[in-house]
Amino acid sequence: MLQRTEGIVLKTQKYGEADLIVTYLTPDRGIVNAFAKSPRKTKSRFGSSLEPLTHGKISLWGKEQSLPRITQADIITPFQSIREIYRDFVNVSRLTEILLCLVPPGIPNQRLFAFHLNILHQIQASPDGSRDALHVISRIRLLALIGYAPRLKGCGKCGKESLDFYPDSGTTLCSACAVTPDRAGKPFIRIDSKVIHFYAHSTEWPIHISNRLKPAHQTIADLSSLLDRHLTHILSKKLRSSEFLTEHKSHSAKEEKVF
Ligand SMILES: [Zn+2]
Repeated sequence: MLQRTEGIVLKTQKYGEADLIVTYLTPDRGIVNAFAKSPRKTKSRFGSSLEPLTHGKISLWGKEQSLPRITQADIITPFQSIREIYRDFVNVSRLTEILLCLVPPGIPNQRLFAFHLNILHQIQASPDGSRDALHVISRIRLLALIGYAPRLKGCGKCGKESLDFYPDSGTTLCSACAVTPDRAGKPFIRIDSKVIHFYAHSTEWPIHISNRLKPAHQTIADLSSLLDRHLTHILSKKLRSSEFLTEHKSHSAKEEKVF
C-alpha cells in the first residue's frame, strides 16, 4: 500500500548498478529503510532529494515488513549548507550515528523527529561563532532524549558532590562509592566545574536560546571528549565520525569545504 509521510535522510547505501537503499528518520514510522530505483542515473526524477540530511515529503509503496519502494521524494529543506561545511557535516554525522546505533528501527517517535529537524534548522541558522557549542549541546540533548545522557550532577550512587566521571558507569562517582573491589583501578576523568555548569545549562535551556551560552573553547573540547568516552563505552566502539574528526584536526584549523 502507498504511504505518504515525511522523512530526513540519515544515510544511503548503493545497491546494484544504479539503485539505492535510503535510511530515513520519519515521525510516524521511526527509522525506516526504503528502496530507490535508479536514482544514480543522470536523468533521475529523484534529483538531489535523496542526499543525506534532506528533509522531504516522501511516498513509499509496499508492505511495512518488506523493503518499501520510494515512489516520490520532494524536498522541503535540503540542508545543503550543512553538507558543504566539513565541520558541521562531521558533527551532524555523529548525531546520525547515535540515532542509527541506539534507536531501534520501526518505532514511531514524533518527538525525536521534531527534535532532529529542529537541530538541523538551528545549525543552519546559527552564526559561525556559536556553532561548536551548538554541536555539543545537540549531542547532549539527543542522548538525553533517547535515554543515554551521562550523569554529571553529583555522585550517581549517593548524590555527594564529585568531579570524577567514570565512563564505564556513565556517571560521576564520589571517592567512597568509586572504591569497591569490582571497581578497583577503573579509569575516570577529572572534570572542571565549568564543564559541569555548561552541561547542566545545555540540558535545561531551550535549544533556541542556547546560543546565549558562551562556553570557553576548552570547556567545549573537554565536554566533547567526555561525551566521546561515554559513547565509546555505550557502543563498545568509537564513533567512526569522532575518529574522523580527530584524524583531521591537525590538517587544518579552519573550516574547509570538502563535500
Ligand atoms: Zn557516592
